[in-house]
Amino acid sequence: MENCLTTHNLTKRYRKFTALDNVNMTVPKGAIYGFIGKNGAGKTTLIRVICGLQAPTQGDYTLLGADYADKKNLSKVRKHIGAIVETPAVYPDMTAYENMKHQSIIVGNPSFDQISELLSFVGLKDTGKKKVKNFSLGMRQRLSIAMTLVGNPDFLVLDEPTNGLDPQGIVEIRELILKLNKEKNITFLISSHILGELSKLATHYGFIDNGKLIKELTASELEAQCRKKILIKATGKKALSTVLDKTDYEYKMLSPDECEIYGEINVNDTLKLLADNGLTVSRISEKDEDLETYFINLVGGEVND
Ligand code: ATP
Repeated sequence: MENCLTTHNLTKRYRKFTALDNVNMTVPKGAIYGFIGKNGAGKTTLIRVICGLQAPTQGDYTLLGADYADKKNLSKVRKHIGAIVETPAVYPDMTAYENMKHQSIIVGNPSFDQISELLSFVGLKDTGKKKVKNFSLGMRQRLSIAMTLVGNPDFLVLDEPTNGLDPQGIVEIRELILKLNKEKNITFLISSHILGELSKLATHYGFIDNGKLIKELTASELEAQCRKKILIKATGKKALSTVLDKTDYEYKMLSPDECEIYGEINVNDTLKLLADNGLTVSRISEKDEDLETYFINLVGGEVND
């Protein structure tokens, strides 16, 4: 099995409203898949559908090798999936250990042996008799992740896990996810409306807008798209592309007399080369796109609310 999740034209409609529109996404095994979209884009809907909380209107999916149509196999593989959808389900009047014990019973794991190790893994081994209602939001979130680990999942689905956390809490969750991915080989699907927050850990990205998956790419592809570029507009007898072909620049033509050159280049040498070939430069500018700008350009509008 190469992929933990593949969706095939996955569609979810609420009456006339289409919340998911023919989504084809792939979460490779071992990935940390950042699922990015503005509020209301359809992230939670997709997560609810693949977690079996809602049925798709059309299309289907394959989860850990089990096809949607194969209900028996699907319910078997669901045992290897952990999910935190919307608010983490923890009991506020119990301690961390009691919550873990309760979760072990729910998932049918009669041994409580691994609880201390798991609490220690998420940095909650010293919380003793402290009740969860007195935990910070970050501690609760880490506890809810520990609770999903009781079932030894291969695939964890987290819906906006850093929502409402302070910067320190965000760093802790990020480090925990990276550690789980590396040390326990857990594949992640993580939704967020802030691309920058996932950029330090995601290996793959899917961008959703108005229920449509508008782009899916790897972290290195995203990096390449965001890196420095120089825009040049030049006209003359020779075609701009003919002159650029004489160099080892990586470039893209935007129109016959306009191009984007990627990476670090010597601007003076470039201008001289163009002049020597009889081209007149009417515009030159540098663009260094950050992730949020990339996201805004992709889906439009404001993203951080
Ligand atoms: P957020 O971060 O705000 O939760 P999201 O990307 O997770 O955003 P969804 O919760 O998936 O978005 O919602 C997608 C759209 O579907 C929204 O416009 C929402 O109002 C609509 N929607 C979700 N659930 C229902 C429902 N049960 N009935 C009708 N519309 C719904």
